Amino acid sequence: MSQVRTRFAPSPTGFIHLGNIRSALYPWAFARANNGVFILRIEDTDVERSSQEAVDVILEGMQWLGLNHDEGPYYQMQRMDRYKEVLQQMLDQGLVYPCYMSTAELDALRERQMANKEKPRYDGTWRPEPGKTLPPVPEGVKPVLRFKNPQGGSVVWDDKVKGRIEISNDELDDLVIARPDGTPTYNFCVVVDDMDMGITHVIRGDDHVNNTPRQINILRALGQEPPVYAHLPTVLNEQGEKMSKRHGAKAVTQYRDEGYLSDAIVNYLARLGWSHGDDEIFSRQQLVEWFNLDHLGKSAGQFDEAKLRWVAQQHMKTADDAMLAGLVREQFARHGVTLPAALQTGDKLTALCALFKDRCATTVELMEWLTMYVQHLHAPAEELAAQLTDVTRPAVQALAKRLESVSWEKEAISQAIKDTLKEAGLKMPQLAIPVRLLVCGRSQTPSVDAVLALFEREDVLARLARA
Ligand code: GLU
Repeated sequence: MSQVRTRFAPSPTGFIHLGNIRSALYPWAFARANNGVFILRIEDTDVERSSQEAVDVILEGMQWLGLNHDEGPYYQMQRMDRYKEVLQQMLDQGLVYPCYMSTAELDALRERQMANKEKPRYDGTWRPEPGKTLPPVPEGVKPVLRFKNPQGGSVVWDDKVKGRIEISNDELDDLVIARPDGTPTYNFCVVVDDMDMGITHVIRGDDHVNNTPRQINILRALGQEPPVYAHLPTVLNEQGEKMSKRHGAKAVTQYRDEGYLSDAIVNYLARLGWSHGDDEIFSRQQLVEWFNLDHLGKSAGQFDEAKLRWVAQQHMKTADDAMLAGLVREQFARHGVTLPAALQTGDKLTALCALFKDRCATTVELMEWLTMYVQHLHAPAEELAAQLTDVTRPAVQALAKRLESVSWEKEAISQAIKDTLKEAGLKMPQLAIPVRLLVCGRSQTPSVDAVLALFEREDVLARLARA
């Protein structure tokens, strides 16, 4: 087999959301799985609706998710000369023809067809045929160019998701491939690009299935064998609607800002339409090893926030602590928090990430946990009053006294806690809960000795002094 070449071809007409970027992830993974080439092509010919901002979200989102491209980004607007060159070539070869039918005539044709209960389609008035006399060319009218679609027979392809699809050529009329001003139309640009870029596998949303037979016919007319097609079912939102900005979908980059690990998003999106046995949690490396087009799902994937959070938690648990520390530091900076000196260098923050990451789905949640190490968070007064009683207060004070002089590490702190409990005749929660409320501002944390050991001693003593 020749080298695999795939592409992602977004239109930058709105910010890209998770549903869209899945159409980048699959061709990327397929290219990587086959030592192939992944190409990024920006389909920006809808000048009115395309924006640089939308392009930026695509580039940033892909970079964040690690979906790096090997070629491109190509911009269709920069390839106009090439499209016009191919148009001219097709005109010279008689594969396309000028059509002078006016909009009014087309409308009248459509109305006649509808009245006769026929499917509206171009009737071939200007299509040249041997022995046929064409109408006189009207003056001052600029023609569109139409593709001479094959007549009779059908277009067949083996879709990697949908199976065999056969469309009769009688269903397809002669497509307009250039407007009166000479600009090429959408389907034509896609065909020229897929041809020039040597695309072997087109993996894209199934909203393009209807374009495929037309694209195959044009490709064949140009002497090309069509690529393999895989048309991915839509991604639905939690309400079961097609995921879209209008229906509240977030830009991909927002998940980065909310602190999701990119590996978690890649894992989640990969499963939303593809499977490898029962595996739910896998690394990017595993995805690239396993990905193929034989296990693509046939039904629409539905976004599920709870599942995303679960996947995200699993990735947090196994994430490298130093890497997390770097991300948490970025989150603090984004939230305008200056870290105390002790947390500015890596080790302390790394140890904190190791201790708290099991409780989090995102680095923002991790940052929220670690805020107690940056500032004194006060527990609700009633909660503290309920826990800091005449029975427990003396024990907290006795512990504080011990902590003034123990060596400042987990084991020694643990021993100080045990000694205090023994002396006071109390159970662990009777001491640990008020200590947590005073020091951490909350009653539940990982093991209290480990939590305390990562504070500065004077901070712990100052906070316990409020007992
Ligand atoms: N530009 C199209 C879109 O954003 C994709 C075209 C294609 O993949 O062929 O829907």
